Amino acid sequence: MNNKPLIIANWKMNPATFEEAERLLNTINKEMGRNENAEVVICPPFIYLSSLLSIAKDNLVFGAQDCFWEDKGAYTGEISPLMLKKLGSQYVIIGHSERRKYFQETDQVINRKLKAILKARLNPVLCVGEEARDSFDSEGRSLDEVSLVIGEQVEKALIEVSPAWIRNLVIAYEPIWAIGTGNSCSSDDAMRATLFIRKILTKLYDRSIAEKVKIIYGGSVTSQNVVDLVEGANMDGVLVGGASLNASEFVKIMEVLKK
Ligand code: PEP
Repeated sequence: MNNKPLIIANWKMNPATFEEAERLLNTINKEMGRNENAEVVICPPFIYLSSLLSIAKDNLVFGAQDCFWEDKGAYTGEISPLMLKKLGSQYVIIGHSERRKYFQETDQVINRKLKAILKARLNPVLCVGEEARDSFDSEGRSLDEVSLVIGEQVEKALIEVSPAWIRNLVIAYEPIWAIGTGNSCSSDDAMRATLFIRKILTKLYDRSIAEKVKIIYGGSVTSQNVVDLVEGANMDGVLVGGASLNASEFVKIMEVLKK
């Protein structure tokens, strides 16, 4: 693992009110005052971003959960990377399995968004992951689904992405069966997926570039399993969904990872 662990909170379409969002942020803010050893990124719903940014501690970083690929124009309902950049957001999650599933986002759409995010000098958090649980066999060889799905998602997302931009990229390995289910991936399988992703990056670019990309794990992360998943699997951090909405649990994740 390079540098500080990266802990990204994906609040999804939560909480329901700004007051709750503010309470959650205030608890995290207190912990940030004590925590210098992890990079913590909060990705709230768009409408809370600006207000939360204004009350957050300086060492707390913000991200968005999605964006469009154009800078501005007649695209009703959309938000551009440039707008996010101007607001002070530094990361954008793209290709989340929920967006692929409920909004029919294709690899081509994700590729356009990824390029726009990099052009705006933001950090894309590209989510990839297989659908079924039985994706690795007991001897640790990657089976067809993991290699096909992850390989294809990574390669298609990176079409025409220049090596010069890659250093800002974060890839989140999020097995779909682990998201929101309470069943996280084993650290061995997370490590195999990481190695596999680095192999693809090496094939597309080269080894030194592949090593610069941060690879994090997402899927039912808790304060109980986070150390095993990050240190045991040599990951660069975690993407946390459900547990990031529980202030004390999220603070515990920050505490155990900074040790
Ligand atoms: C996610 O949806 O990105 C995620 C990691 O969710 P959870 O932690 O709830 O599994």
